Amino acid sequence: MGGELRFDGKVAIITGAGGGLGRSYALLFGSRGAKVVVNDLGGDAKGEGKSSSAADKVVDEIRSAGGTAVANYDSVENGANIVQTALDNFGRVDILVNNAGILRDRSFARTSDTDWDLVYRVHLRGAFMVTRAAFPVMRQQKYGRIIMTASTSGIYGNFGQANYSAAKLGLLGLSNTVAIEGYKYNIHCNTIAPVGGTRLTEGLLPPDRWEHTKGSVCQSSHGDIVSPEQVRDNWEKIIDFTGSVHPASSQENSALLIGALQEISEKS
Ligand code: NAD
Repeated sequence: MGGELRFDGKVAIITGAGGGLGRSYALLFGSRGAKVVVNDLGGDAKGEGKSSSAADKVVDEIRSAGGTAVANYDSVENGANIVQTALDNFGRVDILVNNAGILRDRSFARTSDTDWDLVYRVHLRGAFMVTRAAFPVMRQQKYGRIIMTASTSGIYGNFGQANYSAAKLGLLGLSNTVAIEGYKYNIHCNTIAPVGGTRLTEGLLPPDRWEHTKGSVCQSSHGDIVSPEQVRDNWEKIIDFTGSVHPASSQENSALLIGALQEISEKS
């Protein structure tokens, strides 16, 4: 298999990179040679307030590790400003990870206009605004890699998340069309439905996918982090749908995940 995956010379925008999953993406891209725009509005998990300190901290972390990064504090709703920060500092945009997100959970009957609108505006409209600004730049370069962040709450539905589910599956539709329209310009657009222990998932059981492969357990030899190379080297196994499983709910899916984790701990 090939060597380390590197992003030298590439410019990556990560939205919502001041904490949680976005921070991890930004640190990883920074450690692998990309010049990173660390975007974060710095509000709370419900989308209230703002602060520059979240993005600044991550920029400092990347720089102290020898990487290159700049901060941007705009809301993703001002996507053009975020892309402009990349162009002003680095002259191009190669990678865009639409990651920023908030939650305003309420049972469907109690969902207010504000709960609906804010969640829609950050997730779906926000990703649209940043991607629309980046797309022409990528088209001109004949290179672009875009990630949309969906959620299993959109795939299965989840109690109290009508607003979030709708926005998240909307992102999948957006991604599918951007992928079709971007293809001839070498712009690839894909969607992920991550699971991670962050402030958004405190107290929640994470759900997973409609149908999934048995996957592959990727573990570092030191037991700390999973590397992109392990994912690459196990890719054939990860995408092998032979004997795929069909969890019908987040609970069933979590049981599968817990089973896999038990297997690992028994082997080690
Ligand atoms: P998080 O709250 O830790 O991080 C989200 C970040 O987005 C925060 O730093 C926040 O300040 C930023 N943000 C919020 N609104 C913004 C805006 N308008 N403009 C710019 N930045 C903004 O959450 P996380 O768990 O790391 O979630 C990251 C993404 O992954 C979200 O889109 C979330 O919906 C999705 N997701 C997470 C999980 C999970 O298990 N954690 C599961 C499915 C999907």
